[in-house]
Amino acid sequence: MQLHDNHTPVRTKPWDFGLVSTAEIGELEKEYVLRVLDKKRVFRYSGSDNELSEAYQLEKLYSDRLGVQYCLGVNAGTSALVVALIGAGIGPGDEVIVPAYTYIATAAAVLIARAVPVIVDVDDTLTMDPQALEAAITPYTKAVIPVHMRGVPCQMDEIMAVATKHKLIVIEDVAQANGGSYKGKALGSIGNAGCFSFQQYKLVTAGEGGMLVTNDPSINARAMIYHDSAFVYWDMNKMAETVPFAGENYRLSELNAALALAQSQRIDSLVSRLQKVKSVIVDGIKDIAQIQLQRIPDPQGDLSYSLVFYLDTLEQSEQFSKLLVKEGIPNGTINNNGFADRHIFKNWKYVMEKQGASENDTPWNCQSYKGNVQYSQDMCPQTIDWLNRAIAINLHQNMTDEDCNDVIEAIRKVAATL
Ligand SMILES: *Cc1c(COP(=O)(O)O)cnc(C)c1O
Repeated sequence: MQLHDNHTPVRTKPWDFGLVSTAEIGELEKEYVLRVLDKKRVFRYSGSDNELSEAYQLEKLYSDRLGVQYCLGVNAGTSALVVALIGAGIGPGDEVIVPAYTYIATAAAVLIARAVPVIVDVDDTLTMDPQALEAAITPYTKAVIPVHMRGVPCQMDEIMAVATKHKLIVIEDVAQANGGSYKGKALGSIGNAGCFSFQQYKLVTAGEGGMLVTNDPSINARAMIYHDSAFVYWDMNKMAETVPFAGENYRLSELNAALALAQSQRIDSLVSRLQKVKSVIVDGIKDIAQIQLQRIPDPQGDLSYSLVFYLDTLEQSEQFSKLLVKEGIPNGTINNNGFADRHIFKNWKYVMEKQGASENDTPWNCQSYKGNVQYSQDMCPQTIDWLNRAIAINLHQNMTDEDCNDVIEAIRKVAATL
């Protein structure tokens, strides 16, 4: 009771860390971007010196980091997902399983490939529930897209076991987990393909940009064809085995590649700084009986820019969140009625209502599709339950021990009022 009368917030200092990615923009970024201008080469495919391009250097860096054979820089994370799906031969008539908690772009990419997204629950990891995945498989299921949400690795052993048993293609959505790992393996290198984003809200940024990584030569060749409308005619030797088809233009610009290259060089240092911050906070709150920490399938591979814990009910999490703000710690509930968060399936309006660009020809009503997927607001109740009870705090690499202690103290103070 006394605590309610204690009006002095734990933290009065402003919380002004900014984004993880842009806080790092500095001399190296300037040098690399200016280098592009000095070279007067702003387009990657100029003549025979492809290997001098920034885009090639970026692909090389990811190929080495992840130990994968093929990397293809593209202009966005969404584009990376589309070229992975098209590359894997997914198209009309196919179902692709996606989690109920991911950015809408994951489902959109499936629709752009003319396939049908099937939405399954996440569990207390806030990533795809492997049992829900297996339960959703139909004769039309061709692929699954596990999403390493909020930098947390999915339960890849279980997901790969289900995929292998049912012969599904696995495309990892690594947009939010660039630099993460699972049992020592780099995220993106575990499934048949991995898709990265360099948009501003990700760990490292180029403003816009993306990357497809794969060890499968056929996925790579078809992805290259789709990322450029004439690519198939440029290198007939490499493409000899591949049937040509029309592509879009998802090419990566040299300026974006240079930015991504500068930023990507500090992924490991960034992740280790974030992991230090999160482990200090987790150590300080793990004994609190009133809260339940998010389950992390492999804590060593967690990017650690997000701290999530659960309360017992929606009412409790809303109350907790408000009190935490009063204590000077910015945070948010994940599922609330205020803002239609496009990371939650129920707010993917065009998916839920099966709307396509053309009314007469959508992935759902096309001739090739023999399945009958249904969407409703009350599907995936397990996802809604976890999201209702979740509180998320965005962490930052520049947080000091004092900042971490503020978070710990504030959480302890609010928990004591429950
Ligand atoms: C950001 C994001 C994407 C899309 O990336 P863009 O670069 O914005 O196209 C895809 N999936 C997830 C999970 C994302 O967070």
